[in-house]
Amino acid sequence: MNTLPSVQEALAQAAAAGVERLDAQRLLQHLLQQGRAWLLAHDDALLTAPQAVAWQALLARCAAGEPLAYLTGEREFHGLPLQVSPAVLVPRPDTETMVDWALELLAGPLAAVEQPTVADLGTGSGAIALAVKHRCPRAQMRASDASAAALAVAQGNGERLGLAIGWHLGSWWEPFAGQRLALVLSNPPYIESGDPHLPALRHEPLSALVPPGGDGLASLREIVAGAPQHLAPGGWLLLEHGFDQADAVAGLLREAGFTEVQHRTDLGGHRRCTGGRRP
Ligand code: GLN
Repeated sequence: MNTLPSVQEALAQAAAAGVERLDAQRLLQHLLQQGRAWLLAHDDALLTAPQAVAWQALLARCAAGEPLAYLTGEREFHGLPLQVSPAVLVPRPDTETMVDWALELLAGPLAAVEQPTVADLGTGSGAIALAVKHRCPRAQMRASDASAAALAVAQGNGERLGLAIGWHLGSWWEPFAGQRLALVLSNPPYIESGDPHLPALRHEPLSALVPPGGDGLASLREIVAGAPQHLAPGGWLLLEHGFDQADAVAGLLREAGFTEVQHRTDLGGHRRCTGGRRP
């Protein structure tokens, strides 16, 4: 019979399976429900038999490329602990760029609006909407998603964090008919079908990555097209997009009559976010 592995041995098994040490430590913390300090101080602690079995399963999934966030069921975004599942895209640090820009606008050009209505289209885990509401409580935050499963994840996050958001099931502008919003944010699917990065993203929902039809700009185009009739005069639209789509998105915004069109760069220095103001 196999003896039960210690923490140290479990981490060695992870290394042998090709799992990075930091990832292995996070996974083991999750499995043992212990903090990092405990883990570092307890090399000799033994896993129980069920834990040892579960550990092998986690290592196999991790080695097969499943995102750590799905294995642990959680991910931090803009300082907020979010729960995630394969129903939603894993929130990326690059998307925090758009949150920071939104907060900048709410504290600057939109500061005079007492209760600005802000919408997050295609909210997924709720990351963008929750981060903005957390840092700017006066924002009247709304969020939509066409996936009921995603919206349930987002709503759960809102309840756990005690952040009041209006959650709406529907595609892009659909839930906001007749409304005039002060600020609209979206991280829509923007990857072209056939893009060489897609295989690495195979565990995440395809509908959050690739627009219907496979043209990387299709959803961005649809959102820009609907923006003028859903934004208040002086309202802003901010969009996340692919590293090579900044000029195309700026063109779409200018054609739709937007002014002050500008970009923000992500952590890798790519123009990842483009936005503008409705006159
Ligand atoms: N930023 C994600 C990635 O490239 C894609 C997100 C999206 O399509 N909206 O991994």
